[in-house]
Amino acid sequence: MADYHKMWEELGMDVETHDQLCEVLPQAFGDVYLSQENRPEGMDYYNFVVAEIHGVRPAELIEHQKKGGKVFGTFCVYVPDEVVFAADAIATGLCGGSQFWVPGGEKVLPTNTCPLIKASVGARLDRTCPFFRIADMYVGETTCDGKKKAWEILAEDVPVHVMDLPQMKRKKDVKAWADEIRTFRKVVEEMTGNQVTAESLHSAIVLINNKRRALSRLYDLRKNEKLPISGKDVLLISQIAFYDDPARFTEMTNKLCDELEQRVKDGVSVFPAGTKRIMLTGTPLAIPNWKLHNLVETSGGAVVCEEMCTGTRYFERLVDEAEGTVDEQIDHLAERYMGINCACFTPNSARIDDILRLAKEYKVDGVIDVNLKFCSLYDTEGYHVERALKEAGIPVLGIETDYTDSDSQQLRTRISAFIEMLNS
Ligand code: SF4
Ligand code: SF4
Repeated sequence: MADYHKMWEELGMDVETHDQLCEVLPQAFGDVYLSQENRPEGMDYYNFVVAEIHGVRPAELIEHQKKGGKVFGTFCVYVPDEVVFAADAIATGLCGGSQFWVPGGEKVLPTNTCPLIKASVGARLDRTCPFFRIADMYVGETTCDGKKKAWEILAEDVPVHVMDLPQMKRKKDVKAWADEIRTFRKVVEEMTGNQVTAESLHSAIVLINNKRRALSRLYDLRKNEKLPISGKDVLLISQIAFYDDPARFTEMTNKLCDELEQRVKDGVSVFPAGTKRIMLTGTPLAIPNWKLHNLVETSGGAVVCEEMCTGTRYFERLVDEAEGTVDEQIDHLAERYMGINCACFTPNSARIDDILRLAKEYKVDGVIDVNLKFCSLYDTEGYHVERALKEAGIPVLGIETDYTDSDSQQLRTRISAFIEMLNS
């Protein structure tokens, strides 16, 4: 990575502690990613983005701010990036996926908080992530209890706007979410000094839909019997989608898909014939959490789909692109976003339908139901998920884990035994 110390210092970061993170990340990335054989050439772009993760994109965001632009940090796939981009601002995902940040979060949060929340709070309070320093405003949501309380702590250090996400999906809830997006529009307009117009919102909807289309195209390629790309690589791309420039990301992902389509035509697979096809479902895997994909794909399996926020929940279904007033377009946004099935909703049977549908579409041999430790929402919903899969005759393994490596050996044993069982 080029030398960004001056930039990090100007951001008020704890550069010394951050250096420790910079030392371990390339090693982890090399072990998990660069050790793979026959990777598509198009992965070079994403390798570069990760190698420069705390340099190139942060520098672009700072450049945008120097020109008077604003940056909004988000933590959930319900927050509509379209509104932010429509006001000439930039939205960037901030979810923390590294154990490195967890102890910082534990200084202010109960230990039995999920690692994603602890890492996100730690990254801000310990000043060890440029993205968390750059964002002018954080956008929280009322999804789970841990997050709701975390916003209050973060709000003492950085401006936070919290969107009140309904927890049911009746007509009035979709309307309430549309109203919440209207409020968000005002907040964004005030913060940026720019208007969200019918034209700018329409362009932003197309911009983000195009990103969804590219991801959907990429995922479709995993439905092939011969897999042209590993699950690990797709996970990396999904994670990068949260913070990369959307237009560039779309272009590079479509370019990669061209290459992968050629691979499919040529019958190229990155896995030996007969490798068991695994779908992961559950809590999100924020960057750089590559633990489970790595375990599955070094234990005789291939991850072919993620029913996760770092997966299908992020890109499935487009926002209606019909031109109209800002209000009408906001209604379309609310409809699309309220179609996401997170365990924070009740009832949430549509998620079970999604899982069964995806298992069929991606021809999976087995499903791993993943729960981040202390996420009681997904943990509890696991009851319905695992029962439905068993009833459908699809083998399922439920696991709970965190960001540490302490359970890796034990998980490898369980995952290997599960894949072995699929082979028998
Ligand atoms: S799991 Fe739920 S709360 Fe977490 S990012 Fe996804 S939608 Fe948001
Ligand atoms: S994984 Fe669960 S506990 Fe953690 S932020 Fe998401 S919904 Fe909340």
